[in-house]
Amino acid sequence: MAIIVQKFGGTSVADAEKIRRAAERVIKAVKSGYQVVVVASARGKQTDELIADARELNPNPPSRELDQLLSTGEIQTVSLFAMVLEAMGYAAISFTGGQIRMMTNSDFTKARIKSIDAKRIHQELDSGKIVTVAGFQGIDENENITTLGRGGSDTTAVALAAALKAEICEIYTDVDGICTTDPRIFKDAAKIDQISYDEMLEMASLGAGVIYTRAVECGKNHDVKIHVRSSMEEKKGTIITHEVPQMEGVVVSGATIQKDLAKISLVGVDNIPGNAAKIFARLADAKVVVNDIMQTEISPERANLSFIIGTSDLTAAKKVVENIKNEVNCENIFIRDDIAEVSVVGVGMRTHYGVAGRMFGALAETKVNIDSITTSEIRISCVVDDNQAEKALQAVSAAFELDKPTEQRSKN
Ligand code: ADP
Ligand code: ASP
Ligand code: MG
Repeated sequence: MAIIVQKFGGTSVADAEKIRRAAERVIKAVKSGYQVVVVASARGKQTDELIADARELNPNPPSRELDQLLSTGEIQTVSLFAMVLEAMGYAAISFTGGQIRMMTNSDFTKARIKSIDAKRIHQELDSGKIVTVAGFQGIDENENITTLGRGGSDTTAVALAAALKAEICEIYTDVDGICTTDPRIFKDAAKIDQISYDEMLEMASLGAGVIYTRAVECGKNHDVKIHVRSSMEEKKGTIITHEVPQMEGVVVSGATIQKDLAKISLVGVDNIPGNAAKIFARLADAKVVVNDIMQTEISPERANLSFIIGTSDLTAAKKVVENIKNEVNCENIFIRDDIAEVSVVGVGMRTHYGVAGRMFGALAETKVNIDSITTSEIRISCVVDDNQAEKALQAVSAAFELDKPTEQRSKN
């Protein structure tokens, strides 16, 4: 029998009525002949509330204890989910991450999945049950509960779909699918029917919070077809899959905004081999995730080095650069914590020209100053003042006609 994994995000299970509606989706899949595994998030804003509870008692909660606490949100949802399924006449059993041996490393609050034992789930499915699994959590080799990072239930779902060789992984959420840009900021954003893993990886890592980056990465690596769709309405959403030739015809598939960023610049460091290696090795030791790096030679002897990080890593990164300042002979450290990044993404950029000019033109017209620019083969990102970022995203989205379905957009 084919297996389907259905993941329901926080807003889709926020209250009893919504859990019941989600359960109806599950039953529909059972009636169509699928064995169903449900992955659910904590209800509504519960994870935020648990974090606030922790901080009230300890402003710097130990990360092991924080994970132990946060994991309870998802556990509540999946047991309630199993109860409602039983009440509707369908046998169901719920599991925590630990109970299905969702093994992770010990990086509390951002653990990575190492392996999953699918045996127990298969046994329960084969006995005719619907299995509900708590998202976002795992267990390390010392039986400590870990969590996978905010938004991590998406990763649980895709990783389970891979381990169970599911036909598809459905991500049910509060929007119709993946939109060309965040509909909260550009309300006319069009829904995308199909997007490649690579484009979605870029969009997710550049701030499209609709699906978690690691979930897309896992889907790409294990060939899991992902369908992001609405939990309120029964219509087709967005399929994330391997690139197909017609995707190349679309120059810009989407635009993103990433807030809560900081930029650290090391001005005038010795222009010698090994300095960049030293700085980034120390940042890695401090577990700082670096988004973009820019280095330029300003004279044969000196170079400027800047990098962008999330503000949550700023304290750790500041400590690293202050400690290394003298070793690399840095003249000055310059830090900005009031920036955001606006990006456009599309595999079509590989074969089309003029994208950069169009983006910069839209920003100029709306009087947004660009602090710095980074690019990859399929994206262009501009760092701007955070208080101008939403305006910048709206201008860029309008310039690339992201309110229209792809076939109706002009080509240049
Ligand atoms: P869930 O609780 O289902 O996991 P999330 O809040 O994590 O839901 O993700 C859905 C939200 O992501 C949407 O409500 C939307 O505001 C936001 N979002 C940001 N960028 C995009 C995008 N490009 N397409 C769709 N939604 C987006
Ligand atoms: N409940 C967790 C969070 O709010 C995980 C998730 O929803 O995916 O981040
Ligand atoms: Mg989410």
